[in-house]
Amino acid sequence: MDIAEQLYNSIVTIVNAFNSDFVEFEEPRSRSKRLNSQSVFKLLTSSLQKTIVQSIHQNKPMNFYKVIVLAILLWVGLPALYAYDCGEAYRYGKSIGNKDCTTVDGKPVVVETGYKYNTMKRAAAAKGVSLRINSGFRTMKEQKYFYNCYLTKKCNSGNKAAKPGYSNHQNGIALDLNTKEPAVYSWLVSNASKYGWVRTVSSEKWHWEYRGEGTPCNAFVKYTCK
Ligand SMILES: [Zn+2]
Repeated sequence: MDIAEQLYNSIVTIVNAFNSDFVEFEEPRSRSKRLNSQSVFKLLTSSLQKTIVQSIHQNKPMNFYKVIVLAILLWVGLPALYAYDCGEAYRYGKSIGNKDCTTVDGKPVVVETGYKYNTMKRAAAAKGVSLRINSGFRTMKEQKYFYNCYLTKKCNSGNKAAKPGYSNHQNGIALDLNTKEPAVYSWLVSNASKYGWVRTVSSEKWHWEYRGEGTPCNAFVKYTCK
C-alpha cells in the first residue's frame, strides 16, 4: 500500500466517523437550512474523496493544498453546523462559562455529553432497546422553574430538583432518560456503566450522569446495578 492509498484510507475513516457521529445530532435550525448544510457537507466530502481518488487511480499529482483546505473546512465547519451556544453553565453554584450544545432526541445536550450518550444509545439499539432523553442541559431559568415546582409541588410532578446552580443538568453531565419503560431501565442497570454512565440520585431512576468509563455502577447509588 503506498502513501497516497494510506492517506485515502485514513481520510475515508475520518469522514465516516464524522458521518456517524454527527448524523445522530439534529441541527438546531429550520428544516430548509438543515437540508442546505447537509448538502454542503456531502459536496465537501465527495470533493475531498474525488481529489484523492484521482491522484491514486488516474495517476494525477495530488493537490495537497486542495486536500488540506477541504479537510480544514470539514473539521471546522461541520461541528459549527451542529453546535450552538446553550448559555451559561454552573457547577457547585458557580458559573463555569458558556457551553456548546447540540440537539439529541430533540433536547439540548452539551456536545461532549451528546457523543457519550450516542455511543451508549447505539449499543442499546443493537439490543433492541430504544433510549430517549427527556431532559438534557438546563439553563438557570429552567432550573429555577423546576426547583420552584419541587418546593410548591404544583408542577413537574413535584419531582426533586437541585437548588438553582447546583444541578448537574446545568453543567451538562446529567440526562433524564425514559426509564419508565422497564426494558430501558434494566438495560441501563446492566450496561450503562460500561459506557461511563451511572445513576447518582437514589430517588430518581431516570437521572443518569456521564462520570467516565471505569466508574463503578454503584459509585453513587447502592444496589442499582448488576
Ligand atoms: Zn435529572
